[in-house]
Amino acid sequence: MDVAVYPGTFDPLTYGHMDIIERAAALVGKLVVGIYENPTKQPLFPLEQRVSLVEEAVAGLSNVRVKAFKGLTVDFIRQVGGKVMVRGLRANSDFEREFEMALMNRKLAPDIELLCLMTSSQYQFLSSSLIKEVAKLGGCLEGMVPEHVAVALREKFSVPMELATGDGKM
Ligand code: ADP
Repeated sequence: MDVAVYPGTFDPLTYGHMDIIERAAALVGKLVVGIYENPTKQPLFPLEQRVSLVEEAVAGLSNVRVKAFKGLTVDFIRQVGGKVMVRGLRANSDFEREFEMALMNRKLAPDIELLCLMTSSQYQFLSSSLIKEVAKLGGCLEGMVPEHVAVALREKFSVPMELATGDGKM
């Protein structure tokens, strides 16, 4: 197995994503984290910022690269010379959708194989959308996203530092 691609919106990157990135990177020669524009999801962070947040997080992983893309994921995988698509699975919430997408992708590109990694149990309930909700309300994000992502979220929602770190006094 040489080049694999882990595609997603990453709006923003969480430790759930990082767990999949680290585990996939240990299995393949080179892992490309593909960040798609995804205008249908109306992302909170612009594409360039989502890319730079992931780049900072994977800086220590020598076989991981980050690239933005538009259009069909399978076309992007072919462009980077990939043969494998990596996805993460949380119980219940992801299976139906991933299965549907996998079958469509198989029709579009039978030469690309799908590798699904089960989430680690501590990240089972972690999602970018939940993170955004918590951040918006000023909740503490420790253990859920890397510190630089937490900083970016605080800036987005203009949350005072003491509230976001759980030090707010009543
Ligand atoms: P998408 O819009 O493609 O769902 P996401 O950034 O939400 O993009 O997710 C990218 C991939 O990471 C998906 O395969 C998703 O199931 C997986 N993922 C997201 N959160 C977690 C998590 N906490 N644990 C494992 N996999 C996750």
